[in-house]
Formats: sequence, C-alpha cells, structure tokens
Amino acid sequence: MTQEFAGKSVMVLGGSRGIGAAIVRRFAAAGAQVVFSYSASAEAAAAIAAETGATAVKADSAVRDEVVAAIAMGGTLDIVVINAGVAIMGDPLGLDPDAVDRLIDINIRAPYHAGVEAGRRMNDNGRIIIIGSINGDRVSWPGATAYAMSKSAVQGIARGLARDFGPRGITVNVVQPGPVDTDMNPANGPLAKMMHAGMAIKRHATADEVASLVLYLASPAAAMITGTMQTIDGGAGI
Ligand code: NDP
Repeated sequence: MTQEFAGKSVMVLGGSRGIGAAIVRRFAAAGAQVVFSYSASAEAAAAIAAETGATAVKADSAVRDEVVAAIAMGGTLDIVVINAGVAIMGDPLGLDPDAVDRLIDINIRAPYHAGVEAGRRMNDNGRIIIIGSINGDRVSWPGATAYAMSKSAVQGIARGLARDFGPRGITVNVVQPGPVDTDMNPANGPLAKMMHAGMAIKRHATADEVASLVLYLASPAAAMITGTMQTIDGGAGI
C-alpha cells in the first residue's frame, strides 16, 4: 500500500461501521491522520481505532453543535468525508414523523453544517466528499421518499459548496452508491434479489469498492472534479 495520503488530515463523519469504516481503513493505510465520528457503536468505533490508529470521537450527527465540534476537533483538515446516514423505508402514510425528522437532521442538516464548517477549517485544495445514494437520482420502488429526498438534498449542497469554495481549490462531490453490503443493506437481505434485478452487475458492492472511489476523489488526480455526483451502482441506473 502506498503512503499516498501521508501528511494529510482526514475527518470521516460516521466511521464506526460499514462504508465509513472502510474509508477510515483505507485512508489510514495510505498514511493519513484520520479522525472519525460515531454515535451509537462505541465498541465498533474503539475496534476500528485500535486497528487503524485513527482517533474516534463521539458525535451525534443529529445534533448540529456536535457535528460542528467534531469537524473543529480535526484541526486544519485536508479531507472531510460526510458518510453518516440513516435509512427509513416504508409507506410515508405510516412512518413516524419524528423518525423522519431525525433522518432529515442526520442526512441533510448535518451534511450542510459539516460541509460549511469543513470549508472554514480546511486548507486550500481540500476535499469534501458526501456519501449520497442512487436514490438521489431515482426511486425504483415505493417506500423510499424520505431517504430519497435526503440524498437529492446533498446533491444541492455539493453543487452549492463547489461554487462557494472553488476559488480556494476545494472540491465538493457526492459519491452515490447502489446496494452496498453493510448492516444497513446486507447482501443476503430479503430485498437483495429485487435490487440486483435492475443491475448490470448483479451483486452488492463491497464497502471497500466505495472507499476506492472516495480515495480517488480525495487524491490530487481529481483536482478538477467538483460539484459532481459519482455513481457506483453496478449499472443499476443505465
Ligand atoms: P451502516 O448503517 O452500516 O453504518 C452507518 C454509519 O453511520 C455508522 O458508522 C454509524 O455510526 C454512522 N451514523 C449513523 N447515524 C449517526 C449519527 N446520528 N451520528 C453519527 N454517526 C452516525 O450504513 P452504511 O455504511 O451502509 O451507509 C453509509 C452511508 O452510505 C449512508 O449515508 C448511507 O445512506 C449511504 N448508502 C448506503 C448504501 C447501502 O446499500 N449500504 C447505498 C447507498 C448509500 P454509529 O453506529 O456509531 O451511530
């Protein structure tokens, strides 16, 4: 493994499990100083920290002050990955409105405030990467309204901040996965077959495959890619 990110300071919001943990592992292996946040999974966070040498910080993305404080804790940052997210699926007529509001806090408000705070703390030529979803572009089955709304919203955040921070060489992009094998969406879950039906490559992605795209966008090679949505979905949307 090359030390491509040696000397770089990376903050990952939501790094205790799934895609975020894979991103923490990859940046740490590539030589970066990594700080990551977690909320509920203290044990998993401690294990990732011990494994990678990264620093775990407890910060609930549903609470604005905690998100902003977590970003500030990273010091002067080079790369911020806003990964923490929740999914609530089901008939909107029956969903708990409080749960939907919490999803909005975590999936929309936190990326906005984290992105702005990142811009405040960041070196020139920094990188902000938000983990969105193909549901930001399309909804292929019922029950995904709140989640899809949140993933469309981060597209606007990325486009806007790309303009705001572009003069400093900071890029802002969204990575939009299709199905990824994590606790949120296990590859052996009841909906897997239905999800695979529309894909050219009929399997869940691994979290590490998503992390590869994040590391590319964070690299110097991606300096002119900004305000974009980078889809990694095995051809689900073609
Ligand atoms: P997981 O549920 O496996 O992991 C979610 C991560 O986010 C955990 O580290 C969790 O930490 C953290 N997190 C959740 N809520 C909060 C919170 N309130 N404050 C701080 N951290 C929080 O999900 P995935 O890894 O699958 O998902 C990661 C991102 O990728 C999400 O934004 C999701 O929407 C997106 N995505 C996932 C897809 C999939 O198929 N898996 C497809 C497309 C997009 P903790 O447990 O410590 O709270």
